[in-house]
Amino acid sequence: MLKITPIPALQDNYIWAIHGQSDTVVIVDPGEAEPVFAFLKQAGLKLTAILCTHRHHDHVGGIQELRGVYNVPVYGRRHPNNPHITHALQEGDQLLLQEIPAEFEIWELPGHLVDHIAFVTTGAVFSGDILFGAGCGKNFEGSPEQLCQSLQRLASLPDETLVYCAHEYTEYTLRFAAHSEPDNAAIKQRVAVTQALRATGHPTVPFTIALEKATNPFLRVDRPELIEKLEAHGLADDSPASVFAALLRWHDQFRLPRKPF
Ligand code: ZN
Ligand code: FE
Repeated sequence: MLKITPIPALQDNYIWAIHGQSDTVVIVDPGEAEPVFAFLKQAGLKLTAILCTHRHHDHVGGIQELRGVYNVPVYGRRHPNNPHITHALQEGDQLLLQEIPAEFEIWELPGHLVDHIAFVTTGAVFSGDILFGAGCGKNFEGSPEQLCQSLQRLASLPDETLVYCAHEYTEYTLRFAAHSEPDNAAIKQRVAVTQALRATGHPTVPFTIALEKATNPFLRVDRPELIEKLEAHGLADDSPASVFAALLRWHDQFRLPRKPF
């Protein structure tokens, strides 16, 4: 079982620290350097690698400064607008990090950005901005259908898999989830648990795939109760892609302006 610590950063980001042997640590998506430096110093750890899910500033903004001190490899997908990657990864690659030790399979998950990837290992996935607690990333690039397929792929992971996403959005995203399925008891329970966690300053991340399948409308596009509701929001047919597109439209109407993720 990996030991993983959240490093809160920026407004609502989590930079994930994966602890390795001999006081080493690998970090995921350092949107800023300062909290990482503080964490390393306080915990007495040495940075050995950086994992990068995608090129948005709140995920890469700290890399240059960190590498000024720690000349470590940066693993991610190469893209003309991502100058930080030193070791390029693509779909199906296996990344073995001896220092943890752990092996990650690389999944390309388009739909937030075209070059978004996830790092998948036994029992855990580092999924950046694709899947959030009870929500999903904004469809900046690629089609809604691609985003839907990327979410479905994450949902195919074993139920107990822990999802380490990059933002603390759950309390916010649950508002739409509860609105979309007011009779869903699992959503009601998650609202209560989430409010209690946030009131005491605790993260709601990681969460399990099982919990997402029960409470995240974007993973529930095959649910008859949701499809019925969506017919009032322009749903033409009940293929997963159409249902997902209608769900996104409903979501965007639900709260304007939409939070930028
Ligand atoms: Zn992003
Ligand atoms: Fe982000």
